[in-house]
Amino acid sequence: MTSCSEEKRALRREIRQRKQLVSEVEKARLSHLLCQQVEALPVWQEARTVLLYHALGDEVSTQDLLQRWAGQKTLLLPVVDGDDLLLKPYRPQAAMTPNRWDILEPTTDTEVFSDYQAIDLALIPGMAFDADGHRLGRGKGYYDRLLPKLSCPTIGICFPFQKVEKIPVEPWDIPVQRVL
Ligand code: ADP
Ligand code: MG
Repeated sequence: MTSCSEEKRALRREIRQRKQLVSEVEKARLSHLLCQQVEALPVWQEARTVLLYHALGDEVSTQDLLQRWAGQKTLLLPVVDGDDLLLKPYRPQAAMTPNRWDILEPTTDTEVFSDYQAIDLALIPGMAFDADGHRLGRGKGYYDRLLPKLSCPTIGICFPFQKVEKIPVEPWDIPVQRVL
């Protein structure tokens, strides 16, 4: 175990503690605000195909975006497949199934979206981000493997308590281009 991964683990603990101090109501309020900020971005307005995600409790909820834009853009959601994330289109009418972290995913009968070049924007969740776009995930490296496949703008989204001075970075860590 490297000291860098120790630092990452300590930072994940720290973020979990900070999260305890913020109420669900406040997190919901901030999620609504952040979704409005996303909608104000030209890159969002121009995008036809966007990668979103279903949030865990300590991540910014993109539910507003899924609800408001499903008819107008192709919205993709990640589906865990072994060590990788597959992408599938979000269909408001289709059933969703919880994965092992209780995150809702499009079901197996929804087709996999593999035209990565067609994705115009990707919103990336994280446990923490720094000003350079370095990202701390949950420790599985899913987005470090997904991000190299994307050629579109990537935006990390987080609550204020998830912005940190400096994220410990390992060689495989892929940063996002900006953080909201
Ligand atoms: P996270 O990004 O979720 O915070 P880490 O960056 O600590 O997690 O990575 C977790 C694990 O994922 C590491 O042990 C690393 O070996 C593995 N990993 C990350 N990126 C890749 C990759 N591109 N290919 C193979 N394994 C990877
Ligand atoms: Mg990483």
